[in-house]
Amino acid sequence: MAVREFAHSLIYSTETLIFSILALLLLAYYRGFGRTYVKYWLFSLTALAVNQLSLALESTLSQQNIGSLIDTSLALIRQISQYFHFLFLMLGIYSATKKAPINPRVLIIGVLVVITLSCIAVLPYGFDSANVFNRFYLRESLAAFIFGCGFIVAACYLYSSDVEHFSGKILLVYCVLVGIRYLAFSFTSIISLTEDWFRHLTEWLIYVDLGIHTTLGFIILIWMQGAERNIADTAINRAKYLDEHDALTGALNREQVLEKLTHEMQTAGENGDKLCVYLLDLKRFKFVNDTYGLKVGDLILGETARRLTQSLLQPKVVGRLSGDSFMYVINYSTERQQLTAEEHLHALIAHPYQIEQHEVHLQCSIGYCEFPTDADNADELLQKSNLALFQAESLNIRTVKYESGMQSHGRHLMAMEKEIRQAIANEELILHFQPQLNLKQNRLEAAEVLVRWQHPEKGLLAPGQFFADIEALNLFSELDNYVLEKTCQTIEKWYKKYNRRVPLAINITADEFQNSNFIRNIQTLLKKYAIPPIYLELEITENVVITDIELVMKTIIELQNMGIKVSIDDFGTGYSSLAYLRRLPIDKIKIDRSFIQEVASNDSDLTIVKTMIELSHGLGKRVLAEGVETKEQLQLLRNIGCDAVQGYFISKPISEEAFTKYFRRK
Ligand code: C2E
Ligand code: CA
Ligand code: CA
Repeated sequence: MAVREFAHSLIYSTETLIFSILALLLLAYYRGFGRTYVKYWLFSLTALAVNQLSLALESTLSQQNIGSLIDTSLALIRQISQYFHFLFLMLGIYSATKKAPINPRVLIIGVLVVITLSCIAVLPYGFDSANVFNRFYLRESLAAFIFGCGFIVAACYLYSSDVEHFSGKILLVYCVLVGIRYLAFSFTSIISLTEDWFRHLTEWLIYVDLGIHTTLGFIILIWMQGAERNIADTAINRAKYLDEHDALTGALNREQVLEKLTHEMQTAGENGDKLCVYLLDLKRFKFVNDTYGLKVGDLILGETARRLTQSLLQPKVVGRLSGDSFMYVINYSTERQQLTAEEHLHALIAHPYQIEQHEVHLQCSIGYCEFPTDADNADELLQKSNLALFQAESLNIRTVKYESGMQSHGRHLMAMEKEIRQAIANEELILHFQPQLNLKQNRLEAAEVLVRWQHPEKGLLAPGQFFADIEALNLFSELDNYVLEKTCQTIEKWYKKYNRRVPLAINITADEFQNSNFIRNIQTLLKKYAIPPIYLELEITENVVITDIELVMKTIIELQNMGIKVSIDDFGTGYSSLAYLRRLPIDKIKIDRSFIQEVASNDSDLTIVKTMIELSHGLGKRVLAEGVETKEQLQLLRNIGCDAVQGYFISKPISEEAFTKYFRRK
């Protein structure tokens, strides 16, 4: 073997080694971080290593045997590997800039093109030692032309896709230079293949290519380092933003609102300015969610936050406090300005919302108070605006300004607290039961427990008549625990008396469900009353699920492991969706009454209910329809595959005595 061939072989072997090591490095990185583009570059470098290996073998082995089987096989391997190197390099660049994997169809087509091209380049003159020129054109000039064009296209693509990090710019320059190298080679090879200087040129190109490949290795490494830093920066910024802003609307969240308000109060206090703290509540927003879907609801909340933030009065603070209520704070000096602001806010909300193909009209209720007249700390300002808002909503007035008399509501609450605690202690709260009918087996499958207050003076009160006070007093946890214990007692009593257990479903409020003692409480009760867990079901609303999905998921899994079923109540009215629920091991979805009301008369409601049933079944969950009041509704629900129903048509919620008669008759 000549010295020259030996030198070439040495260079190629070294390159093989370097790119194999680099490929291994990328493999380790890909395993660790799993970025798709790294996988493509890993393939590209592996192909390059194979290519250099076949070049090394070619220069060592087959110089004398042009047209032999070995020569042709090596040539084929070289062609395939060089095209693969190029293909995966390009795919990697595309995937890295788009931050997305490549469509598998494109991949398959790419691979087929590579194999076809390689065969066309090698086979026609593969076993014919005479046609040296044609062979060279096919194997070298054609490939160089394709690479040249490809690199130039890649450069244009990189130029237009403005990659943020520095390595993007180097890669662009690299593509331009390499593109020119290949195109120039391709053209000169056709014109001057026989010239002496061309032979010298090819000699030098081996060293040039060595430089090119090494540069590529560096670029890939720098790119990955830059991209990782970019990803980390984006993640940190996003986390910061979410921490400070409401994820749905981009407005400040409750804590941030209070903090900012405190700050603004300080500034205003120092300058002798006055602030006006408005609370807005969108009216009938639940109806919007029911009618147009949750996505539209979310977009409306986002749009509302934007309108408020960008409003002409240059608010000092804008934030979302909860579901559909916002805070809006301005500086003011005259009463006239307050009135202007009120009207401005109503006009902002009344302006039609153009969301997707819907035009949605909304109104809001407003309650407000002033700093420093009404209070001098943020919590109290919020509380007083809230009192005013509450008045506005319950009396159906557009805007209410806080007045000191409103605190009599506070006195009412204080009296109620005593009364409610007494009611619990005296067992004035009693349970009613509403049967749930299994449509597949036509039998009673369970009953929902609904609380009533047997008031000594006012008679039997439904939840709607006293829940507002319980909520305002934060007594739901007490109520839920009371109902839980009463329910367990009842199951035990019926078993002793009638030797029969009926599964009972209990409504659990969000706070209680997330209480850290909740699971332990239930375990204690089950033990105390010797109740098999399958006789207890818990109903939570979808809004519980989205408050803290991880915690809720953990609780549901624990309950499920204990054998207790969980169902989603009032499904379709909240902010969550089946996409959320898919991850949760819930047993049953209870479609809200509002959807059932019109199934028999309204096509779109029927479609919605049908879709809910199909999707739920697809996720392996059972479906119960609430609020079935007529025979047609029942028939329709049975026809579209609903598993169970509950509603006045089957039975209203009834007293314990009536219910025991009911189930003993069934
Ligand atoms: P929910 O869980 O959606 O309960 C169903 C409500 O719909 C009950 O009202 C029931 O009487 C009513 N209903 C049932 N079928 C029909 C029907 O065919 N047509 C109509 N128009 N209404 C029907 P209720 O008993 O007044 O309860 C109202 C809400 O109060 C319940 O809604 C539930 O969220 C809550 N609640 C009731 N009892 C408890 C309890 O013990 N603990 C807790 N945390 N919440 C409870
Ligand atoms: Ca319920
Ligand atoms: Ca319900």
